[in-house]
Amino acid sequence: MNKTKIIATVGVNSSDKETIKEMINAGADVLRINLEHTNEKNCVEIVNKINAINEEIGTNVAIMLDTKGSMVRTGKFLGGEAELVTGTKIRIYMEKIVGDSTKFSVTYPSLIEEISYDAIIKINQGHIELRVEDKGKEDGIPYLLCEVLIGGVVTDDTCLNFPETRLELPFLTAEDRKSIDLANKLNVDFLALSFVGTHDDVLEINDLLIDMGNNHIGIIAKIENERAFEDIDEIIKVADGVMIARGDLGSELPMERVPGMQKAIITKAHLAGKVSIVATELMASMGEELTPTRAEVSDVANAVLDGADAVMLAAETTIGKYPTETVATMDKIIATAELDVDYFNMMDRAMRTESKDTTGVLAHSVAYNSNLLDCKAIFAPTMSGYTARKISRFRPRCPIIAVSPDVNTVRSLALNFGVYPVLIDELKTLEKIIDVSKKMVKDVIDINQGDKIIITGGYPFKEVRHTNFMKIEEI
Ligand code: PGA
Ligand code: MN
Repeated sequence: MNKTKIIATVGVNSSDKETIKEMINAGADVLRINLEHTNEKNCVEIVNKINAINEEIGTNVAIMLDTKGSMVRTGKFLGGEAELVTGTKIRIYMEKIVGDSTKFSVTYPSLIEEISYDAIIKINQGHIELRVEDKGKEDGIPYLLCEVLIGGVVTDDTCLNFPETRLELPFLTAEDRKSIDLANKLNVDFLALSFVGTHDDVLEINDLLIDMGNNHIGIIAKIENERAFEDIDEIIKVADGVMIARGDLGSELPMERVPGMQKAIITKAHLAGKVSIVATELMASMGEELTPTRAEVSDVANAVLDGADAVMLAAETTIGKYPTETVATMDKIIATAELDVDYFNMMDRAMRTESKDTTGVLAHSVAYNSNLLDCKAIFAPTMSGYTARKISRFRPRCPIIAVSPDVNTVRSLALNFGVYPVLIDELKTLEKIIDVSKKMVKDVIDINQGDKIIITGGYPFKEVRHTNFMKIEEI
């Protein structure tokens, strides 16, 4: 059973019920719907399908909704696309026009004032590159004259990146507001926020959710530009997790900076007890091929070795040819990489910043002793998920079976490293906990007579965030 979680994005090539089910069986723990490419109607349909599959096969796969975010986009093109040719000049208009290979419009008119001469504009996550040469006006419509440095095909509503320019775009768009309403209405488990600028943006969304009466949706701040990276410590404090969104991050910044940032963000999130997700292009070539490249295998394995909680598939499973095979291959790479994780080092690193209270110290003991005794599982009944998260931070080598009577809690644990969440009826006595734990481990993992497990929790019950016992049991 893998400890590093897999997020698979559902899209055109994977939104039928059969493929969703196959991806779950291949190892997907969370399914993401990216509203950049999915309309509300399709989103509702996909959520309904996932919920039906969870019912049908008894899984607790969580759902993540990913907002479009506040981005500058191209307008429409004649026939839906145009080829920008390297070395030619093009005009970017600040008002709606129909685009072609010599001109197009953008959705942010202030761009002309905020961008400087010689600034770089990237299209389609850096596949196309332009440089601003001049600013002008035609029939009263302002435009930027640009040289095409790297050409390529551009389609309607494509996102632009501005590596050297800090735009004053407001964070929360009307469309994203609707997406947040939708996330609440559909009761999804995670909301991934595109293009977070600062921790205030995260707090704003948190307030919105609280106003809606939603206190369980997990907020994942996507780190996609320099501004967010500068505020990373504060963002981690207020978000439930962070996504290293390497697609946009590598377009907004020189892409050679991304690996170092990835390691730094994973460590910071781990130290703060928050979830980290490594996203984009981990298995890119499997969009077309049935095997990954050696470099991709290494990329997935390194995310695991760095201590990420989760790795994410995007284009590979949305427009790729082999969504299920990609998830299965990623699952296999993770399983092998996890054999090489330095678990004691991860534990020491977590202990450095642990609050020295009963729950923290006990969580450390549970993880430490499970490693020393080579336990096969940690069994942790939890109301809010707090106990399971604490233990996960110490990175024990064995799985943490987190049982809860609250379905929201169960699904909220889908991203935490090593946590295997299970929905059960409330366990009312200590005897019942021991009894159920011994039975359940046999269903969930391979276990033999004489193997040890650790049971931990809070007693008496009902008090959330209070772990106070640990019991070592032999099967
Ligand atoms: P996206 O985010 O797939 O929503 O763009 C991830 C990234 O930018 O890497
Ligand atoms: Mn992005």
